Amino acid sequence: MKKTGKMIRAKRKNRYPAFDGGRNLPQALLLVGFFGMGLWLSRLAGGWGIASYLLLWMVSYPVIYAGTCRYCAYYGQKCPVPLEGACVHRFFPPGGKPFGSPQLLWALAAYFLRVIVPVIVIVSRGAYLSGLAYALLFAAFWIVHLRIAGCPNCINEDCPLNPGRSSS
Ligand code: SF4
Repeated sequence: MKKTGKMIRAKRKNRYPAFDGGRNLPQALLLVGFFGMGLWLSRLAGGWGIASYLLLWMVSYPVIYAGTCRYCAYYGQKCPVPLEGACVHRFFPPGGKPFGSPQLLWALAAYFLRVIVPVIVIVSRGAYLSGLAYALLFAAFWIVHLRIAGCPNCINEDCPLNPGRSSS
């Protein structure tokens, strides 16, 4: 079990107390691209597609703030993902419990809200080529986050994905 945890986690590069000074720029650009592509796909479903995409994207913030970011070491600081750690303190008090697997599940729920409308549009309209571009952007965002720019430099050592986490 310990071995599996180690394999999933990235290798440590740095320890950034905050992702300021453009340290989260690659993720910011990919997030903008991923958001924009999702919006472009959602507009294929008309005004309702655009409205529900934007609404669910907005709802994803209280979900990730309440379930994930308020338990994170980057609470109130710039973290790997724009508008998350740096904004949570404006809306929610600190969680006061260690960051663990439930926090990853809440983050997953937030990203589910962000992708559900584009995914429905891709499947219902057969927009598979655009769907592939969307999937590649989404994958690039997570690869950069988990393996390159985010987790390898993160100080949230309670997180199950953190390279500094000692147990599985
Ligand atoms: S280790 Fe990775 S997933 Fe966990 S809080 Fe840090 S950046 Fe986020």
